[in-house]
Parts: sequence; structure tokens; C-alpha cells
Amino acid sequence: MAISQIWAPWRMEYILGQKHGGCVFCDMAKAPPGEFRERLVLIAQPHAYVCLNRYPFAASHLLVIPRRHVADIASLTDDELSEVAHLVRDSSARLRQAISAEGFNIGFNIGAAAGAGIAEHLHSHIVPRWVGDTNFMPTLADTRVMPEYLDDSWKRLYPYFSDLPGEQGPQP
Ligand SMILES: [Zn+2]
Repeated sequence: MAISQIWAPWRMEYILGQKHGGCVFCDMAKAPPGEFRERLVLIAQPHAYVCLNRYPFAASHLLVIPRRHVADIASLTDDELSEVAHLVRDSSARLRQAISAEGFNIGFNIGAAAGAGIAEHLHSHIVPRWVGDTNFMPTLADTRVMPEYLDDSWKRLYPYFSDLPGEQGPQP
């Protein structure tokens, strides 16, 4: 499978994000904890937050997103960069515990040229991987099962993020 095909679902997110009007990641950053479950936010810290990707390439595909609307990692302050990096580290460690992830693809697509779906608001992907999961994406591309599946994932991961500083939504 070509890389461009693997990353195609981000086009869908991009389209839906545009329909929404503003910036979906800014909307999530402003959401109160009472909305964290429906928005799939697992933990929110002063400068960044972690949520499940609504269009995952694998089970429990997470995003780490700075609260501030910046497009480029070069625009982050030291405090923001530090919090994003810590959340990437802490989230990957929790995915190893929660879903026995064996490896990860972690990184930023910066700019439309690099394939970013929502290019205007920086975000890091954390895609858990397992040995032999070469067909990891297509099974999750069925939108009919997605909402329930995502809520299950959120509930499953919730307790693993409870020890981190920051705000969580109400206990499921
Ligand atoms: Zn934004």
C-alpha cells in the first residue's frame, strides 16, 4: 500500500473539520471537562491535551495537540513543546499498558505539503502498532461501528490517564 493511501483518511477529517466552521482542535481545547467524553479527550493540561483520533489508523490512535492555534512546531514556546513532548511520552507508555502496544508510529505532519489533514493546527500522532499488523488500517475504516468503538476505547484508556496532572472528564 502506498503511503498516500495510508494517510488518505486525514482528507476525510480535513473535510469534516472545514464543515464544522472553525478549528476542531481549538474547539476541543476550549471544551469543558463535561464534554471530554463525547470529544474523546483523555487528559487536558495547561498547554496541551490528548484525545483519540476520530479517524484512526489503528485501535487507540491518539493525538497530542497544543492548545494554542499554531501550524508549525517552530512556533511552540518551550513550555508548550515540553508539555507536548511529555504527553507523547506518557501517552505511549500508557498505550503499552492499556492495550499491550508493541510499537508506535509517532510524529507530526507539518503543512499540507507533508500530508497534514488539519494543517493549520499542529498535532502529533501516536499510532500503536503490533507485530504483524500490516492490515491495521482498513478494519477500522468502517464508519458504522466507529462511534461505539471510539467510546469503548475512551472508557478503556480513561483510567490509565488518571495519574497524570491535568483535567479529565467525569468518570465513565
Ligand atoms: Zn486551532
